[in-house]
Amino acid sequence: VGDRLYLGMDFGTSGARYALIDKQGIIQSEGKREYPVFMSEEKMDWARSWRTVLFSLLEDVPVHLRPLVASISIDGTSATTIIVDSNTGDPLWRPFLYNESFPDALPMVKSIAPANHTVCSGSSTLCKLVSWWNIEESNKKSALLLHQADWLLWLLHGKLGVSDYNNALKVGYDPASDSYPPWLLSQPYSQLLPSVMAPGTSIGNLKEDIKTQFGFQEDCIVCAGTTDSIAAFLAARATQPGKAVTSLGSTLAIKLLSTMRIEDARFGVYSHRLDDKWLVGGASNTGGAVLKQFFTDEQLQKLSEHINPMKASPLDYYPLKSVGERFPVADPNMVPSLHPRPESDVEYLHGILESIARIEAKGYNLLKDLGATQAEEVFTAGGGAKNEKWTKIRERVLGLPVSRAMQTEAAYGAALLALKGAQKNSY
Ligand code: ADP
Repeated sequence: VGDRLYLGMDFGTSGARYALIDKQGIIQSEGKREYPVFMSEEKMDWARSWRTVLFSLLEDVPVHLRPLVASISIDGTSATTIIVDSNTGDPLWRPFLYNESFPDALPMVKSIAPANHTVCSGSSTLCKLVSWWNIEESNKKSALLLHQADWLLWLLHGKLGVSDYNNALKVGYDPASDSYPPWLLSQPYSQLLPSVMAPGTSIGNLKEDIKTQFGFQEDCIVCAGTTDSIAAFLAARATQPGKAVTSLGSTLAIKLLSTMRIEDARFGVYSHRLDDKWLVGGASNTGGAVLKQFFTDEQLQKLSEHINPMKASPLDYYPLKSVGERFPVADPNMVPSLHPRPESDVEYLHGILESIARIEAKGYNLLKDLGATQAEEVFTAGGGAKNEKWTKIRERVLGLPVSRAMQTEAAYGAALLALKGAQKNSY
């Protein structure tokens, strides 16, 4: 594989990025683009915007590096769905976005899926498909369902109808048996479902016209992608069971690599497949958004300098921005607890950071109680990762080594998938 490079592209919620890495994982080039606004009938034309950004990112890859690109992969937002014409690949309908909910489809989905299945949420891909199926009249016979990443990858390889088992989870694909379940295959709309590959599998060569136009090499391949949050996990290179990534952004999300698959709808816990392992996770409503209510980023940094992380704070809060928690405590009526507030801001911040750390520890303990591999080491991503005092507090409270993840960009994770696909392809 020599001096070849591997291109990953991330289509996230706020923009798209690319990362070009070498075999060692060193970044050779990276960049970012905003989604351009194209309106069509007074609505945002997302498909056109994504396609435009895809080719803009290819143009952003330095010309002299393009011939070195051996493989390309893409991640997209989970449950972002496009229904396309199965002959042309053109969208038949505006894309359904990751956060759009279709409660009209829920009763029908709940009546066919097992109780508490991940598809039983109004924003699941399956609810989007069923909702479309119920209102559409004419185009049903020649329709095909793709996820955002599938469709963008198709623009590069040209084989219509391919997805990966991470993106396909929310349409009902069963990654354990590697098939769509019988309750889904018996539905009339199952003819729309794409075929499914493991993330990072080579799908085919980059299309001729794109190779010629941009100067990519003859053997450049396109590999199956994944979702944005899984790509962000892959970026941290936590590849052994027991390795985990805590994301301390506006909210707190934990992800743990496990040998066992676990699911618990009460806590919103489910598992994604990663080859022969499972990526289990949960998301709490606590996190940086609460800190932001009280302190600016600058204050957070200044105040943190005065915290003694070796000393346990006696203050015990449950920091939430609004009522309701799901993980690690399932209680839609839980009220935020941030009192009493001490005179000292340093003590207050210490108490909040320590309380969030306790929620994080409770999260990892819950995953273990549900049957996942015990956490052994935690990498950190998100705005809270740069707070070294918080890292020390968390090490003490979790009883585990905690460090900042070296890479956290989803585009980097997608590039690792491209690398994986190229290595497999060369055997
Ligand atoms: P998002 O989930 O919105 O992408 P980010 O990963 O960008 O979030 O993180 C932003 C959060 O990080 C903010 O809510 C902010 O309160 C928090 N944050 C910023 N600086 C610090 C710091 N030094 N210590 C702890 N938290 C911080």
